[in-house]
Amino acid sequence: MRLLLVEDDLAIRGFLRRALGEAGYQVDTATDAKTGELKALEGSHDALIIDLGLPDMDGLDLIARCRAQGSSTPVLILSARRSVDERVRGLEQGGDDYLTKPFALAELLARIRNLLRRSSAPQNDSVRLQAADLQLDLVRHEARRGDQLLQLTPQEFSLLEYLCRNAGRVVTRTMILDHVWRMRIDTATNVVDVHIYRLRNKVDLNASEPLIHTIRGVGYVLKDA
Ligand code: CA
Repeated sequence: MRLLLVEDDLAIRGFLRRALGEAGYQVDTATDAKTGELKALEGSHDALIIDLGLPDMDGLDLIARCRAQGSSTPVLILSARRSVDERVRGLEQGGDDYLTKPFALAELLARIRNLLRRSSAPQNDSVRLQAADLQLDLVRHEARRGDQLLQLTPQEFSLLEYLCRNAGRVVTRTMILDHVWRMRIDTATNVVDVHIYRLRNKVDLNASEPLIHTIRGVGYVLKDA
């Protein structure tokens, strides 16, 4: 499970990153709203934890911007604003839960577990991804193009899932390496290209329209022609 923490306070950020890491979560962080927005829109997090008092933008506006751009990732608001009005506003603006500072770590962890449980419930349909005639079943780890079952390795499935979650948006090699392989490699590497090549041979080979497209010098995008 991967979380994004948007918090400008160094002490709280450090504490939460460590505590959430120890609780078994992968934690990305952002210290301002602009960076938080970019990371949140990558769509690779299972939940967002957003502080309201951010240096460049109100956290509520950040949440509204993410929602307006199609992000449905659950959001836990973390704020020193305690009034009922503020809390209601936070929930109306697209937050899913609200925790006031100071908070007990045990309560934060319980609320995150709760958010993740709610969002992974089958009625949210988050177990399936679809783009054109491509379907991914995230529980069974099965991918189909039309009615044909694709034989993918776990790595190829993860790569296809990432492309599918970002359908219509260009993803760079660095983003792919970061999210699928969990590594950051600054030097040129062809591991992504090799896997894309293999994936294409399975996804697009017998199809009338290719879904995986190369954006020269930038990366890849999964989209309908
Ligand atoms: Ca703050």
